[in-house]
Amino acid sequence: MQYLKNYINGELVAPLSGQYIDNVNPATGEVYALIPDSDEQDLALAVEAAKSAFPSWANTSAEERSKILLRIASLIDSNADRLALAESIDNGKPVHLAKVMDIPRASANFHFYGTAILHEYSESHFTTPIAINYTLRKPIGIVGCISPWNLPLYLFTWKIAPALAVGNCVIAKPSEITPMTAYLLSELCIEAGLPKGVLNLVHGYGHKIGQSIAENHEIQAISFTGGTATGKKIALAGAPLFKKISLELGGKNPNIIFADANFEAALTTSIRSSFANQGQICLCGSRILIQQSIYERFRDEFVKKVATLQVGDPLNVSSDLGAVVSKQHQEKVLDYIKLAQEEGGKILVGGNKVILEGRCENGFFVAPTVIEGLSAYCRTNQEEIFGPVVSLIPFEDEQEAIALANCTPYGLAAMIWTENLPTAHRVAHQLQSGIIWINCWLLRDLRTPFGGMKNSGLGREGGFEALRFFTEEKNICIKL
Ligand code: NAD
Repeated sequence: MQYLKNYINGELVAPLSGQYIDNVNPATGEVYALIPDSDEQDLALAVEAAKSAFPSWANTSAEERSKILLRIASLIDSNADRLALAESIDNGKPVHLAKVMDIPRASANFHFYGTAILHEYSESHFTTPIAINYTLRKPIGIVGCISPWNLPLYLFTWKIAPALAVGNCVIAKPSEITPMTAYLLSELCIEAGLPKGVLNLVHGYGHKIGQSIAENHEIQAISFTGGTATGKKIALAGAPLFKKISLELGGKNPNIIFADANFEAALTTSIRSSFANQGQICLCGSRILIQQSIYERFRDEFVKKVATLQVGDPLNVSSDLGAVVSKQHQEKVLDYIKLAQEEGGKILVGGNKVILEGRCENGFFVAPTVIEGLSAYCRTNQEEIFGPVVSLIPFEDEQEAIALANCTPYGLAAMIWTENLPTAHRVAHQLQSGIIWINCWLLRDLRTPFGGMKNSGLGREGGFEALRFFTEEKNICIKL
């Protein structure tokens, strides 16, 4: 049994309490590692280490910080196969997906911010004719980064890399459900020569060590990705301390298919945007809005394709879907499928858990599920399920599509499929979503602002937005 360790002050250390949490492989249901159940005492050590490291890290040149971040990126690259396998075992996702998506993106995050920092600039304003102002951006100090289980290393590094790049010291907590690649990253950070105390990684429960990070007086900013209910707790903990807070939360994203769409492209990409990573991507389109005149054709073709998707061992290259992340999550998804039926929905394909033979007989698998016949306002179509479940909803015209798309409390991402450019722009402008993809999905450019509206979050990550979030601005005015 492997015991994971915290990474504090440059060393891998056991939790002071000696307590551990089970780490389960969702494809087999077996406990295969133990995670530190960290508490306030471990956090105090991490904060002390970060405080000691901050003055010198903040004063390290951008070139030096860049070199270390790029070294971490290249160590991720050289360990890519090992990390992809670890991610697949820890999360249940197909290993081939981890290889092409999660791990390359984790490396790209360090590469992107390790080079972005070299191109940072500050503004100056000439106040004719009496003064000149210049604006400095300084690292905040000690910042907290808390991430979820669905894209473990991908989202963890998306926060840590910009925070470190601008000179902060970081206290980071990965999800207790998928801690393994964050642990492996701490080993790589030691190998890369990251100075001690600059990054501190404390493992454990969200309600315990996570909440302590949110409430800690010395941690001056929190970048959080996870569920909306947790985001609310973090905002509540941070508000009285006037912490800077960035929240990337849940979604209930509409995928709008107009009758004039490129049918094949919309169909193929919708399979991916519905079921990639078992539907456990905050950007997945869980509500497919289809224009009435092509509704039946699209529905039938879609269902036919979904029926061919293979749910299987995540280590098997032929598996399209692996396991969902935990037994508890499997039950939540199955409960929503039951609710959909109670609300009058018809299951067109899937709707059940999948029991595999052999190594994965005790794993947590759910069949890709397509439902139709539900009101857009019922719970199934309003609440985030975060699994391989989509609902099909017909619409008559552009105005109805916009109204249906905007009718949930969320506003993270939306997809629009149409060959008509004015329609695409008109609809995009009226959707209440922070991220809109026209005739594509998950086409990412790391320079663009990333985040949601309404209950999907607060603030934006990505590009210079993240560098701004992790810095304090200071304007200096000189009278001429
Ligand atoms: P979660 O909110 O349960 O947990 C996220 C992280 O917060 C974990 O590390 C957890 O331990 C920690 N946490 C839990 N309670 C806490 C507390 N009281 N104080 C501090 N930290 C606490 O979310 P999850 O189930 O891990 O992830 C799934 C959710 O994340 C979905 O809602 C999904 O939409 C969302 N998500 C959003 C984005 C985005 O970019 N908007 C990306 C990925 C996932």
